[in-house]
Amino acid sequence: MKDVRTGSEGQCQRKRVFIRTYGCQMNVYDSDRMADVLRPLGYALADTPEQADLVVLNTCHIREHASEKVYSELGRLRDTKAERRAEGRDLTIAVAGCVAQAEGEEIARRQPAVDIVVGPQAYHRLPELLAEAERKSAILRAGKRLPGAGVLDTEFPAESKFDHLPSPQGVRAGSAFLSIQEGCDKFCTFCVVPYTRGAEYSRPVSAVLAEAKLLVAAGAIELTLLGQNVNAYHGEAPDGSTWSLARLIRELAEIEGMARLRYTTSHPRDMDDDLIRAHGEVPQLMPYLHLPVQSGSDRILAAMNRKHTARDYLKLVERIRAARPDIALSTDIIVGFPGETERDFEATLALVAEVDFAQAYSFKYSARPGTPAAKMDEQLPEALKSSRLDRLQQLLARQTHHFNQTCVGKTFPVLFERAGRQSGQLIGRSPYLQSVHAEADSGLLGRIIPVEISGAGPNSLTGVIRAA
Ligand code: SF4
Repeated sequence: MKDVRTGSEGQCQRKRVFIRTYGCQMNVYDSDRMADVLRPLGYALADTPEQADLVVLNTCHIREHASEKVYSELGRLRDTKAERRAEGRDLTIAVAGCVAQAEGEEIARRQPAVDIVVGPQAYHRLPELLAEAERKSAILRAGKRLPGAGVLDTEFPAESKFDHLPSPQGVRAGSAFLSIQEGCDKFCTFCVVPYTRGAEYSRPVSAVLAEAKLLVAAGAIELTLLGQNVNAYHGEAPDGSTWSLARLIRELAEIEGMARLRYTTSHPRDMDDDLIRAHGEVPQLMPYLHLPVQSGSDRILAAMNRKHTARDYLKLVERIRAARPDIALSTDIIVGFPGETERDFEATLALVAEVDFAQAYSFKYSARPGTPAAKMDEQLPEALKSSRLDRLQQLLARQTHHFNQTCVGKTFPVLFERAGRQSGQLIGRSPYLQSVHAEADSGLLGRIIPVEISGAGPNSLTGVIRAA
């Protein structure tokens, strides 16, 4: 690690960056990669914004009030920056991620304390953007005027950022994310991803395999393959052929030391036969699948532009369960989409009852600016959306709790990932992605250990370590 000399006493002091990550696993991956980009510039990670010379907010545009949360955080950072400047020091503020992409110029206009706005496809350029921000800041400190202080890069560059990123360092306790695909061409009417992340792009096979091998060499025994529409993966292989996600998974499973593979997030239309078969044939592919359905009403599914029906989804679930009978299914559901009637909502409840999900994420519909659904008539009142969400979540919570209860008495291989709240306790993941709490020595972090499940809560399991 390169040290950066600062201060009149000439003490050695590293620069520090604090990265706050909002939203999905893609953003967690991007935050790790931004840390990788900044490391050669001398930036070590800070635990809090107060310790940092550079704060990056890696934002998410999916959830309700996402941009408001970013602006209130920026207000706090502006105050910190003003206090620092009064003391003759500085704080550089960067906004990255999907809010940066969607509202870049608005951010620079509304919050002049922001030095850098960088979209999700351009963060490999952070070193140049930081240098430019520093140059502008020096001009301002000298009392000169500038037309707009912030540095903005929300392009979808012709070159892939993946070709310009340094080797990944982000292996935490045996598990790592690996981004294989970005963007989306599906254009669901409620979703901003096609606008913020751009068109669907699959990384070449050789790049994915090389990064996977590096991650395994750095200690990863579990890889989660990431993409906004990950099962649409169609990467170019060295021989010029195109590999599907299933083909890639089979190859990754051959890497020595690769114990577990997962992937997220999938679209039902891209679950092809080979991928379904892989669930039954590749032992490293964990028996868990996140497969968003969004609604159980064909009318609403059509309005969402999902291009599948409730029956398509149910038939797909049947085929997946035939290939891997113990698979734990997870989903995303939006309630209160514009025009959703009580009958539509009941169709969603019926689909949920039929599938019996092990896990689910459910949300009230909230309009994302610039999406077709935001302009639709028949936006539903908040109170109605809330009461429907409450009814749905009661059903989903019962299903998750029941699934957890069926695990009691079984012994699972658990990958321990982090310390628990109580001393002497670790938390790991079962093959079905449940959190498992067990008394365990911290030396077991990053290892897969057999754990007999002794208790099941609504959202997690407890267990006792068994001899391997
Ligand atoms: S498939 Fe997923 S990422 Fe693509 S538009 Fe639909 S919800 Fe968004």
